[in-house]
Amino acid sequence: MKMRSAIALGIFTWTAAVGAASPKYVFLFIGDGMSTPQRMIAEEFALATGHGELTLNHFKYHATTRTASASSLITDSAAAATALACGVKTQNGAAGVDRELNRLESVAEVAHRKGRKVGIVTTVTINHATPAGFYAHRKNRGMLYQIGLDLVASGFEYFAGGGFDNRHDDKKDPQYKGNLFDLAKEAGYVLATNKVEFQAFKPGPKAFYCGSMGELQYMIDADGSEPTLAELTAKGIELLDNENGFFMMIEGGKLDHAGHSNDPGSNLRETLGLDDATRVAKAFMDQHPNETLIVTTGDHETGGMAMGFAGTGYAIHPRRLARQACSLDEFARKLRHAKRDAEKANRPFEFKDAQAMLEQWFGFDFSKTGDKGKDKSAGDKFAKNTKSNEDEIRLTADDVKRLEDAFRRGALPSVACQIISGKAGVGWSSGAHTALPVLTTSEGVGAEAFVGLLDNTDIAKRLKALFE
Ligand SMILES: [Zn+2]
Repeated sequence: MKMRSAIALGIFTWTAAVGAASPKYVFLFIGDGMSTPQRMIAEEFALATGHGELTLNHFKYHATTRTASASSLITDSAAAATALACGVKTQNGAAGVDRELNRLESVAEVAHRKGRKVGIVTTVTINHATPAGFYAHRKNRGMLYQIGLDLVASGFEYFAGGGFDNRHDDKKDPQYKGNLFDLAKEAGYVLATNKVEFQAFKPGPKAFYCGSMGELQYMIDADGSEPTLAELTAKGIELLDNENGFFMMIEGGKLDHAGHSNDPGSNLRETLGLDDATRVAKAFMDQHPNETLIVTTGDHETGGMAMGFAGTGYAIHPRRLARQACSLDEFARKLRHAKRDAEKANRPFEFKDAQAMLEQWFGFDFSKTGDKGKDKSAGDKFAKNTKSNEDEIRLTADDVKRLEDAFRRGALPSVACQIISGKAGVGWSSGAHTALPVLTTSEGVGAEAFVGLLDNTDIAKRLKALFE
């Protein structure tokens, strides 16, 4: 009883503080694996390369947010999504159900029940843990086919992401009802599987963009063949805008993947991609200033990323990360192709071949003298301001030895990422998630409620109360 009244009082206090105003338009941005280090490395990188400050770090209200799940101080993405979406802690692996496997109602479902349109957007597969937390109710995130069934049943107006994974037609599933794409069409969704079809979406029918590759490309590798997270967000606004308003969850899902693989250049560019999407929402808020709420947060930290590294003392060189011009995954692919081409041509694939690729894609300078004018790196749009001596990535004899050894072991992509992390002053303490709290920032109608030291469940509780 005591606890109940304390909770009621807590809700009363903050709804009173915001005048119980209900924003018509609500955006929730989630960086998967994004805590303060990920946000601030991206910020320092953007500032140092002349691209200005990030939008998502500069919203007016800030909160530190604990991320523990019911089963561990270190949460997985499913338990974190359940906390952020439903306001209840559950065990790692569970999506949209509590510890006893009871079905929970997510903020997206509350918004939908109250007559708002709902959009769920991600850069990874649409039945991945984070989006699933907002529409699915399954004891395990691995029940991908059944999570897909929940998506179809949700009736939400807009889904966009990398599509279902390859279990979309899992005939062995005990609940098999048909191919998930067919079921989505039968439920009234217009499907788009490429950029042209996506761009043709018009307001009216429910829309589902399924990227053809299962996930969107990393920003660092993007070739323009598929829409960006910012474009998916802009389309969501176009499709969902209506007199009852909308709720949209937008996830930067691949930050987490780059965190798991300790890939610094890809990680920070995913944060920048999420920031681009946030900027779309901010522009919308500027047009609808008294009706919009934007909240940005992370579900947990990934990689134990640090701004500082044992080998670089008090120095940090974020601009050096502009020299990284492809992801670890993409570099591994390039190596495989180069090796295959060499085999086809009947010549050996040697370290010197890989060395040329490291010069091109990581900006590594193998010359002992570091001659000017020898820059062979590809770089990207961020690299144009980073051609000073200070930004060169000169390798020591030890570095070269490590790379040669990694080449022999087949571990060159990850060691290249370790070396460029070290040269930039970025540390990593884990290949998994960590218990580091995340930063939540917000602005707009009701944003005052998102301050102080929050629990991840508070995000859902506060959002839900705005809709009820
Ligand atoms: Zn996650």
